[in-house]
Order: sequence, then C-alpha cells, then structure tokens
Amino acid sequence: MSHAVAFLDELGLADDQISTTSADRTDHAHDWGTPREDGVEPDVVVWPESTADVAAVLRAANDHGVPVTPYAAGTSLEGNAVPVAGGISLDMNRMDAVHDVRPDDLQVDVGPGILGSEVNEAVARHGLFLPSLPSSGKISTIGGMLANDASGMKTVRYGEVSDWLLEVEAVLPTGEVVTAGSKAVKTSSGYNLRDLVVGSEGTLAVITRATMRLRGRPEQIRGGRALFDELDDAAQAVFDAVRSGVDVAKIELIDRLSAEIANDHLDAGLPDTPMVFVEFHANHGVEAEIDFCRTVFEAHDVRRFEVADDESGMHDLWEMRRELAEALAPYRPEMKPLTPGDVTVPISDYPGIIDYAKELGEKHDLLIPCFGHAGDGNLHYTVYVDPTDPDHVALGEEVSARIVDRAIELGGTSTGEHGIGLGKQTYVAKEHGEAAVDAMRAVKRALDPNGVLNPGKVFDGPER
Ligand SMILES: Cc1cc2nc3c(=O)[nH]c(=O)nc-3n(C[C@H](O)[C@H](O)[C@H](O)COP(=O)(O)OP(=O)(O)OC[C@H]3O[C@@H](n4cnc5c(N)ncnc54)[C@H](O)[C@@H]3O)c2cc1C
Repeated sequence: MSHAVAFLDELGLADDQISTTSADRTDHAHDWGTPREDGVEPDVVVWPESTADVAAVLRAANDHGVPVTPYAAGTSLEGNAVPVAGGISLDMNRMDAVHDVRPDDLQVDVGPGILGSEVNEAVARHGLFLPSLPSSGKISTIGGMLANDASGMKTVRYGEVSDWLLEVEAVLPTGEVVTAGSKAVKTSSGYNLRDLVVGSEGTLAVITRATMRLRGRPEQIRGGRALFDELDDAAQAVFDAVRSGVDVAKIELIDRLSAEIANDHLDAGLPDTPMVFVEFHANHGVEAEIDFCRTVFEAHDVRRFEVADDESGMHDLWEMRRELAEALAPYRPEMKPLTPGDVTVPISDYPGIIDYAKELGEKHDLLIPCFGHAGDGNLHYTVYVDPTDPDHVALGEEVSARIVDRAIELGGTSTGEHGIGLGKQTYVAKEHGEAAVDAMRAVKRALDPNGVLNPGKVFDGPER
C-alpha cells in the first residue's frame, strides 16, 4: 500500500475491504461518461460495510489530507465519481441492505448501495413502490441517485427521486455522523441539511442510510405511443398536454433520428417518424385520461395514437427507451457521440429548444438526435463528431455548448438530472451567478475544511 494511505491498516477493516490491485483501481478510475483513457486511478479502493466504517475512513483521511471519492454503480455521465485527485475510492456497494420496511407508514429504510429496482422488489409484496427512479434505476444506486439529484421518466407525475427522501444519515468529511430530515412527512425544524446533501455529488457528505417514502401501486397502468409527421407537432403536443393538466405518469419524446438509432441497434421496429410515448397511472377512470390526452394530441395533428390494452403492451418499447443512450455510440462507429446533453427548460420553451438544436444541426451539417423526459422540459441530445478531425470536434462541442447556453438564457438549467461532475463546470456560474457559486464554496469549506471529499467536482475541477 502506498505510504499516503498506509493509515488504512490501522482502522480495523477486513483484508477484503481494501484493495490496491491494478484491476480494482482501474475499475474505479472512470464512470459511464468517462472514456477509459480519461480515467484517473485512485491509490486504493475501500469497501465500507457500515456507517462506522465510513466514519473511520473519513476521519482518518481528513486527518491525513487524503482525498476520498464516493463510488457507487459508476453510471454517472459527467465524471461525477472519477477520483481526479487520486486517494481513496470509497465503494458504497456493500452497504445495500433493506433495513426496515414500514408499510403502514409507507416507508423503507435502505443502505445507499442498493439498486433502485431492488428497493421496488423489496416493497412490492406490500403493494407499494418507489415511484420516481432514473432510466438507469436497474443499474444505479439510491445513494448515487440522491447524490446526483437524479430523476427520470415518471418525474412529470411523481417528482424527483429526492422528493421521496424523508430522512438521510450521512457522514461529514470530518467523520461526524449526522441525521437530517425526519420520518414525519413534513418538518420545518432547522436548516434543511437533507436537501443540502441531495445533489452535492458526494462533495459534502457520504450518505449511509436513507428513509424513502413509498406509494401504493396504481390499479391501472396503461401506455401508448403517438406518431407525428413533424417533430414540432410532437413537441407542441407534449407542451399542450402538460399545460392542460393531462395526468400522464410518463411522456417521452423521440425524434426521427433517435427512432432510427433504436431500430438499428435495439431492433425496436419503430416507424420512421417523431413519436411521443406516454403512460397513465390511475386507480380508476384511466380511460377518461387517455381520451383527454387523445383530444390534445389531435389538436396537434397526431397521425396515430395507439394505446396498449394492458401494462405489458408497452413493455418492450419502454425497455428500448431506457436503452437508447447505450445505442448512441454503436450507431456511427466511425464517429463519436459527445456526452449526452441534459438541458431542461420551462415547459413552454420545450418546442423552442428542440427547434434550436435541430436548426444548429442542419446549419452545420451535424447529426443531433433528440429525445428525453419531455414532460419535464428535459432534452437529451448528442452531437456526433469525427474524432480524427479536431475542427469537427471543436464545432460539435461549440454547438453542444450553444444549446446549453440557450437553455440557461431561457431560465432553464445545464443539467436537469446528470449533475455537474467535471463536464458541466463551465455553466455553474453562468447559471447561478458568481455570488451564488461563492456561497456554494463557503458551504463546501465549512463542511469540508481540508477539501478531502470528492475534490474537483461541481467547481474548481480540472478542465474536461
Ligand atoms: C443508460 C443510462 C441512463 C441514465 N438515465 C438517467 C436518468 O434517466 N435520469 C438520471 O437522473 N440519470 C440517469 N443516468 C445517470 C446516472 O445513472 C444517475 O445519475 C445515477 O443516479 C448515478 O448513480 P450511481 O449509483 O451509478 O452513482 P455513481 O455514478 O457511482 O456516483 C454518482 C455520484 O454520487 C456520489 N456518490 C455515490 N454514492 C454516494 C453516497 N453513498 N454518498 C454520497 N455520494 C455518493 C459519487 O461520488 C458521484 O459524485 C443514466 C445513466 C446511464 C448510463
């Protein structure tokens, strides 16, 4: 073990909780959005199995000034979990217990390393579910979701993952264990430390336990897809559905190019046209909501609106939508898709931001597929660039940045759900202003005076 982290030997951890092997360090050098060549290896990987383990590691690392970067499933897209300053990669995956299910209170206590889908499996027998999960809910952890302030397809109806967080236990960089929030559904007691931890990307505290609120599974779940001839009609239909209060649980837009990508690499069999996928949740009267939606879509020249007979009828299409991000790279093997954009704008600006992205694509002859959690005003897009041509890469990056700038000008955000990590740092001050960023830095200094927890993320990171 390198001299810098030799103190780990004194903490009473088991041999299999610490590794300096090249394979383990390489595994923790990058996340999903970081190419292998851009990864940074930690000096050591540590797998805590309890809150006490996390506290012991953080206290000692803080005393020795050694960086600690929490690492969960590594599905972040902006380098959020990459240990840019080396040190310890703190792998949270072994803290994956379901501690307690309290069906009468609609609550579950879980360890941070549990996958989102595993929470749902654990509470399903009580007829309950955790409604809001990211599309990556089967491959990412509750701790990672809260740290990145993740959301997903059902956010349009149920809010973000963190809207279901009641209470969180977390370890501060100096090793103190704090509990924030309450098991009551509301509290006005003190500063809201719970929401400070949310979205802090592992830079302020390490989450060691979460109490999540649950909800009864709806009796009726029906899904469908609407085909449009024009992308603008599809986008306007989404805006109108949300504005009119159609009670959708999911409403996702897929442009023609994304449909082609899904057909080529996910064998989706989609028609060659812009589409909106929808899902409705209700305990009774779902048909009335579907009819309302149909009326709204008809006002925007929907070509066909097909609704499945039951929940399973849309299963394959939702799986395809979930996997779309993974199909981007193989679609054009000779090109490189830039990190998926994640801008989010007020819903009335949603058609406009898509139009802007498409216009830029046409003007500069760039392939820009657009899809995303449309009902939230969330647009995922990528720009394909020729990696062998620096001018083409620079052009793609500039176009991608212009879409982000436009979203911010519209009062939106550079990232609706993926977080800042390394990739979006240039936009933090543009979005919030220097004074707000200074306030964020002051919070960071107050909680992490030695700057040991996930340094270089959110601000002051290396250029990416
Ligand atoms: C195919 C695909 C689809 C995706 N779809 C969505 C989507 O629909 N919505 C969405 O929001 N995101 C999406 N993402 C991004 C990503 O999956 C989410 O941000 C996810 O929540 C990250 O969780 P993770 O367990 O992989 O965390 P990691 O990537 O391992 O870590 C995420 C961040 O949290 C920190 N961290 C991890 N555990 C803890 C802890 N216990 N305490 C404190 N900090 C911690 C890390 O340091 C890092 O900064 C997608 C990614 C992929 C690959």
